[in-house]
Amino acid sequence: MAIRKILTSEDSVLHKKCRTVEKIDDRILMLLDDMTETLYDSGGVGLAAPQVGVLRRVVVIDVGEGLLELINPEIVKSSGTQTDGEGCLSYPGKYGMVTRPNKVTVRALNRDGETFEVSGEGLLARAFCHELDHLDGRMFMELVSEWLEEE
Ligand code: ZN
Repeated sequence: MAIRKILTSEDSVLHKKCRTVEKIDDRILMLLDDMTETLYDSGGVGLAAPQVGVLRRVVVIDVGEGLLELINPEIVKSSGTQTDGEGCLSYPGKYGMVTRPNKVTVRALNRDGETFEVSGEGLLARAFCHELDHLDGRMFMELVSEWLEEE
């Protein structure tokens, strides 16, 4: 495992759409392991592959309820709304109020290639939305209604 460099706002890779993972090979497994190590090192709650320069649909999330590895994730259900402070490892020091669904269900593949569904509320629902947006090159700052703190 290795800690990878997290790209920041000026990197154009962050604005590109990621490709679907067709085959879960050793490179994808290593990517998952490295992303997990990078996430825990950073102190964040979620990391998407484009943030480490890889344009693949891979996300890791841990909001304190255990690690979730998501390959080709998609939101299959969402309901309610929540508005709270949100930040991004690629935008250090930037926090703003963002409205998201309060409950979200995601369908994804695990590292064994099995389809599973996972539901989250509150912070986990927010993390699902934030990280999945990264896979389509969308940034949380486009959704900020009010900035809480500037760098
Ligand atoms: Zn982010």
